[in-house]
Amino acid sequence: MILTDYTFEELKEQPIFSEEKPFRIKQLLRWVYTKLEFDFGNMTDLSKEFRGKLKENVKIIPLEKINEIHSFDGTTKYAFRLNDGFAIESVLIPMNEGKVTFCISSQVGCAMGCKFCKTATMGLLKNLKVSEIVGQVLLLKKFAKLKEKQKFNIVFMGMGEPLNNLKNVLKAIDILTDEKMMDLSPRRITVSTSGIIDGIKKLGEYPKKVRLAISLNAPDDSLRERIMPVNRGNNLKDLIRVLKDYPLPKRDRITFEYVMLKDFNDKKEHALKLYNLLKGLKYKINLIPFNPFPESKYKKPDEKTVLEFQKVLTDRGVNAIIRKSKGEDISAACGMLASKNKKE
Ligand code: SF4
Repeated sequence: MILTDYTFEELKEQPIFSEEKPFRIKQLLRWVYTKLEFDFGNMTDLSKEFRGKLKENVKIIPLEKINEIHSFDGTTKYAFRLNDGFAIESVLIPMNEGKVTFCISSQVGCAMGCKFCKTATMGLLKNLKVSEIVGQVLLLKKFAKLKEKQKFNIVFMGMGEPLNNLKNVLKAIDILTDEKMMDLSPRRITVSTSGIIDGIKKLGEYPKKVRLAISLNAPDDSLRERIMPVNRGNNLKDLIRVLKDYPLPKRDRITFEYVMLKDFNDKKEHALKLYNLLKGLKYKINLIPFNPFPESKYKKPDEKTVLEFQKVLTDRGVNAIIRKSKGEDISAACGMLASKNKKE
């Protein structure tokens, strides 16, 4: 069995733990989730017998690091091999004031086909298991050398559409936010979607209030359909309606991501349309000048165009931030993740 596939309640029911007292399981979880110790032999306050049983029957993380690339800006992209031979990528992003964000994957590849996204070129290969999601966080925390209690943020913005793997994503969030496990506040977790309406409704019903981000990228249906096939079954009118009904915590806002593509969606009239589209929502918007990759036909807009676009929004009181993508030089920036997935 793989330990990180299970919630605490589920672990208690597993045959290997059925004879153990709950506090023994809590001790084990503390080693794994707080101390980031993945070798049972070093878990010194567990009995020798228990450690032996664990060693024989339990694996903690089903991922193996196969590569890491460092950007000049401090961002590090990791490639992990899964037990079944697939590969995924996760990114460690240092932020201001010593804060750190982990950008993690929810699928191998992605079925959504967004035209500005390198992952889309892979198609969908599989949904990640719970342990493959939780495992990314454990390893990134270890690699970041964070202190035991040091907090960090997680964004589901790596490979995949998290709402297409919602069951496993939510169970991973259950584990990551459980105080006996990773003990992270749900407010430190952002789920980013291309705008799947059913999934957004379900996420709204989930009792733990994580943050919601929408990859929007166009101010009207005709433009959006050209770069995001998801828009055909999830048009903007319906999307905005579901966002208006979304049970947002009081101080919270929805984040919209807007990848700016030269001469496509980057003009002042697009910004104005965008402002009108989002009227009535509590939100902020991240403007992300496109990071070109070889197969892409789009280009990055120039700085003046980006600033003019931003001004249209900020003049109207919108919190619009230009996001300089981190890790651009190592293909770790937004929309640039795509590992080579040759099964070995
Ligand atoms: S942008 Fe996100 S949803 Fe769209 S294809 Fe890429 S990974 Fe999938």
